[in-house]
Amino acid sequence: MKYNVILVGTSFASSFFLHRLLQQTTKPLNVLVLERGPLIPHGEQVQKRRLPDAIKQHLVFDERKHRWITNVMFGGNSNCWFGCTPRMLPNDFKLRQTYGVGYDWPLDYATLEPYYYAAEDLMSVAGPDITPFPKARPYPQPPHLLNDFDKAIAQQFPDSFFVLPTARARVNGPRPACCASGVCSICPIDSKFTVLNGFRDLYTDPRVTLKMNSQAVRIKFNGAQAEGIYALCDGKEEYFAADAIALGANAVYNPQILLKSGDTSPLLGKGINEQMSFTVDIFLDGLNNYQGSTSLTGHGYMFYDGAHRAERAACMVETSNIPILRPELGKWTQRGRVKFIFEDIPQDKNFISITNLNGTEKALVNYQGHSDYTQKGIDFARDTGVNQLLQNLPVERYHISELNKTEAHALGTQRMGDDPATSVVDRNLVHHRYRNLLCLGSGVFPSSAPANPTLTLSALSLRAADFFAQEAL
Ligand SMILES: Cc1cc2nc3c(=O)[nH]c(=O)nc-3n(C[C@H](O)[C@H](O)[C@H](O)COP(=O)(O)OP(=O)(O)OC[C@H]3O[C@@H](n4cnc5c(N)ncnc54)[C@H](O)[C@@H]3O)c2cc1C
Ligand code: SF4
Repeated sequence: MKYNVILVGTSFASSFFLHRLLQQTTKPLNVLVLERGPLIPHGEQVQKRRLPDAIKQHLVFDERKHRWITNVMFGGNSNCWFGCTPRMLPNDFKLRQTYGVGYDWPLDYATLEPYYYAAEDLMSVAGPDITPFPKARPYPQPPHLLNDFDKAIAQQFPDSFFVLPTARARVNGPRPACCASGVCSICPIDSKFTVLNGFRDLYTDPRVTLKMNSQAVRIKFNGAQAEGIYALCDGKEEYFAADAIALGANAVYNPQILLKSGDTSPLLGKGINEQMSFTVDIFLDGLNNYQGSTSLTGHGYMFYDGAHRAERAACMVETSNIPILRPELGKWTQRGRVKFIFEDIPQDKNFISITNLNGTEKALVNYQGHSDYTQKGIDFARDTGVNQLLQNLPVERYHISELNKTEAHALGTQRMGDDPATSVVDRNLVHHRYRNLLCLGSGVFPSSAPANPTLTLSALSLRAADFFAQEAL
């Protein structure tokens, strides 16, 4: 039988697309969803306190031991994400136009804004009234509470420090209010948005057939058309024909499937990047901390946007309320943690290829490192920025970490743009060459921005589904 649409993956990229597709279409529709991993119910995840090793795949294939984390299971990384949902800033979409560096997006903030609202509603995001990005109406949930260290930063930087918007509930609603235990990678009370708690019903819709343990391997092309997909279903190869295919397998696995299918787009797989970060561990002087109502509480934009972006990467500051205590009597809670997070620019020397490990084909992440632009941002923050942030605060001493091994945000391997010579998909996430094939997820980001990517990739999926429903159904 032939499906109208085959979707690959069941995490944010695919589920937001599927949600909008089902909502937009009144005509009969027949969607097949291929999910490579198993479905592990939330209760089972909590009971085991960790995801099985077979699922938690840390792909480490570079000398710097940079990690690319992908959880191959129903809901993908939505199971373990932390739920921080800032929007990107308007200038993040036009870095080259504004600062002469990096790459511009083929669409702007205003075009994506309606989809930001829709994605925030679907995730029931809790956030502040005053935001660093344009926002005309309140978040669905009230903001989380800052801790006393956050409040001291906010006093010093009243125009550039904000309560962090998050898909961790502030009040009881579709999910229970966050209790600030800070172990969000498996939230014990199911307070953060996941595909399992937010979108499970999509997959029982009569128009949708979900095939678990089914790995999409390669697409069959006929000229400029994608005709169908070969998949390993419980280890056995099967073929499924379709009018259209949407890949939502993430920035590592989408290119794996496309490369295996013989797609020779010049930029396919190239440019893998993500935000870089370091953490500052702060010993406070007489200030007791950890009164916040969730795990990660504040976002600082004091080093984010501005003329410096012509020279060095933007940096976002993220404050933590996860209680890590001090041993000294009377000072147990006099501690704070701040992460400095930097944007990166895609470089062709960082790319995905396919390798054969013990008879199994795998995606190989060839990663040589972040850009000089990002390094300049890191150097500035280490030499000057950290001190600028902390100099007037009640700080006894602090320690700056090495660069963190990952932000778990793989980006940029099927970049979007108007020119097929410099991009893989167009602004509607349709492949330039195969016009019935879409690539979803943060792999399409032309540049990274310091902001966490998932809200933006979810908004892009909603927009792509609108376009697809109008054009193709
Ligand atoms: C610990 C952690 C914390 C994070 N915290 C945040 C945060 O606070 N804020 C934020 O914005 N982002 C965060 N992220 C990143 C966020 O999780 C990702 O941006 C997001 O999950 C990407 O969604 P996706 O749908 O593109 O891909 P994924 O979530 O990676 O899902 C890919 C899906 O495709 C399936 N799949 C893969 N290959 C195949 C195949 N060949 N055939 C069939 N199915 C396949 C997988 O099983 C999975 O279902 C975090 C990530 C981690 C690991
Ligand atoms: S802080 Fe606690 S309740 Fe809130 S999302 Fe994290 S684990 Fe869940």
